[in-house]
Amino acid sequence: MPTSSTNPHLPFGENKNAEWYGKDIISVKQFKREDLEYVFGVAHEMRGMVERIGTFDLLKGKILANLFYEPSTRTSSSFTAAMERLGGSVIPINEVKYSSVSKGESLPDTIRTLECYADVIVLRHPETGSAAIAAKAARKPVINAGDGVGEHPTQALLDTFTIMEELGRLDNLNVTMLGDLKYGRTVHSLARLLSQFSNIKLNYVSPEILRMPKEVMDEVAEKGVPQAEFNSLEQVLPQTDVLYVTRVQKERFEDPADYEKVKGAYVIDPDVMKAAKQDMIVMHPLPRVGEISPDFDDDPRAAYFRQMEYGLYVRMALLAMVLGKA
Ligand code: ASP
Repeated sequence: MPTSSTNPHLPFGENKNAEWYGKDIISVKQFKREDLEYVFGVAHEMRGMVERIGTFDLLKGKILANLFYEPSTRTSSSFTAAMERLGGSVIPINEVKYSSVSKGESLPDTIRTLECYADVIVLRHPETGSAAIAAKAARKPVINAGDGVGEHPTQALLDTFTIMEELGRLDNLNVTMLGDLKYGRTVHSLARLLSQFSNIKLNYVSPEILRMPKEVMDEVAEKGVPQAEFNSLEQVLPQTDVLYVTRVQKERFEDPADYEKVKGAYVIDPDVMKAAKQDMIVMHPLPRVGEISPDFDDDPRAAYFRQMEYGLYVRMALLAMVLGKA
């Protein structure tokens, strides 16, 4: 019988020569245009498989350690669902206070422990750079599920997949990012990822104290993408193809008084959206805490619930890729 490494088509084998086999996913900087096309192709297939048969055995026997040091609903449960839809299983560690982390165990030691039991580790951690530290300690692939205010690469991949599925293109887009651009890691990743495409214009609308970090703007500028900052949405809404709304990240503020000053600065509702085009979409990584009125949810332009579902297919694709099955 051929071994898994000689026959990538064996049902239970892994293709160790596959480009993403064994790789960590730490930053969107790892993804070039052609990589995105590949991820989207696999995600598309995953969607078809889920719609046709629901659960299948591509990752049967594989184990994911889902390690969350910060709260999560969608990222954690969609990685769990992704692994289980692919026939694998999950070690969930959502409450690190019940693990040895509460005894003072270091992140590298926790990672070294979990990789004894799992084939891939998904990590969410409050410190920027923690995913890279974990990846350095690990022999198995580590997937960054949000490292503080740093990056949230799998969110940006599902965000771009959403734009592609909904609008059919990633070039020629006027994208407006709204809300907490300072602490919102999803917009840091998304701006970087979109900067590879042609004829992209990025508008940043935020309160003065929550502006997009210079470091991200400099990286985007290097790619030649025009960016402009505003404090009112009206100035850019009529031209916007994608309105990406974010939550003000209360947990990241040093002074709660500053949060009180800027919370509720922007609210999207049917009235505000009268000024927007019909063929545009509104996205949000969620959770929302008042930035989008539920009155807007039934508008066909409200893509944020569909966006969550796209996340499942993208995360299925990423797990299959790093485990040598795509
Ligand atoms: N769920 C997203 C994140 O983990 C967005 C948010 O929390 O506001 O970054």
